[in-house]
Amino acid sequence: MTYPAATGDFRPVPQAPPAYADERSAIIDLEAIRHNVRRLAAVASPAQVMAVVKADAYGHGAVPVARAALAAGASWLGTAHISEALALRAAGIEAPLLAWLHTPESNFAAAVAAGIDIGCSGWELERIVAAAREQERPARVHLKVDTGLGRNGATLEAWDSLVGEAMDFQDQGLLRVVGIFSHLAVADEPERPETDDQLAAFRDALAVAQDAGVDPEVRHLANTPATLSRPDTHFDLVRVGLGLYGLSPFDGQSSEELGLRPAMTVRTVVSHCKDVPAGQGVSYGLNYRTGGPSTLGLIPLGYADGVPRIATGGPVRVGGVNYPVVGRIAMDQMVIDLGPLNVSAGGPSVLGAEAVLFGNGDDGGPTAEDWARAAGTNNYEIVTRISPRVPRRYINEEPVNEEPASGEPRP
Ligand SMILES: *Cc1c(COP(=O)(O)O)cnc(C)c1O
Repeated sequence: MTYPAATGDFRPVPQAPPAYADERSAIIDLEAIRHNVRRLAAVASPAQVMAVVKADAYGHGAVPVARAALAAGASWLGTAHISEALALRAAGIEAPLLAWLHTPESNFAAAVAAGIDIGCSGWELERIVAAAREQERPARVHLKVDTGLGRNGATLEAWDSLVGEAMDFQDQGLLRVVGIFSHLAVADEPERPETDDQLAAFRDALAVAQDAGVDPEVRHLANTPATLSRPDTHFDLVRVGLGLYGLSPFDGQSSEELGLRPAMTVRTVVSHCKDVPAGQGVSYGLNYRTGGPSTLGLIPLGYADGVPRIATGGPVRVGGVNYPVVGRIAMDQMVIDLGPLNVSAGGPSVLGAEAVLFGNGDDGGPTAEDWARAAGTNNYEIVTRISPRVPRRYINEEPVNEEPASGEPRP
């Protein structure tokens, strides 16, 4: 393969270790989370914001992110699994909370007991009602309609009868239809026409529900890209995940252009630095060889830490320069070619220097989007797959100074 060139000006390293120093960590900036919530809330207003914290808040840590999002103005939380929602309740979080992806093995009784709202696409209704009977407490249900995504949600054909059955159970005091929702398929590609089709189908489904006497507290359709690009999809509530973490859902637009701040920085320190001759092979397969006498830096993160094995060429920032990873990414480690530093002759060693895989992109630093490009995936996957081997460290846990709740990005 051809490797991207290193970019940036080399600065003397190692720098003084930062206060949060760990061998390796994912630093989560909770002020960035709060900023992004305020930004998205301003865009969505008057619709409310549901902070989607499934998959451990896309790898950022569900409990701290949920708390920060609620503090900054989110009024709902969303997860895929009931088990994820139960973990938030166990941490003492009492905000309205919806879980939408179930199996016949899901614990509906525990959800009802914990006051967790349950998404219902059809088959779940019977189980939800059984759980409500067992708990002697009405279930809170959001009926889901499939407007075109083809995943869960009732088909438009089945919608009428699902709504009718749910209303029968509501009349019996076994549940309350709190919400009606659907999910969009192509909102990240605003030029595509299918979002209009899905919106029209959603409006039809709402009309059917209204005719059946449903009076939901919240109708919701928009994810992050629709929140940012389609005000006509906002209804009463928007469900935002990616934007909460400061990442852009759009190919041609950066976080900064959207007024968002990436919240996760993945960093470590260089664990070995040595001069090698021309033609030195690097890592399993020896797919890379140094073009001349050079210096290699060893980065102690690999695919067990969630760095995609396929992402050779992804950037690592050391001493103000973004170096592409050369050779294969291994389980625990990967290598950058620093060019000839002549460490053995007293040149600047980078042993112990901070190495950043991605962060907020300030100052030309690498981003989750750079790694997504190197791995042929999206930024969602890059942050979400950072593994539990990388400890999460939180900064700015308490709000420092009040920022006006406007939608304007900060300078
Ligand atoms: C994950 C998810 C979201 C959040 O999507 P983003 O694009 O990350 O904002 C919203 N709704 C549902 C049903 C989801 O599964």
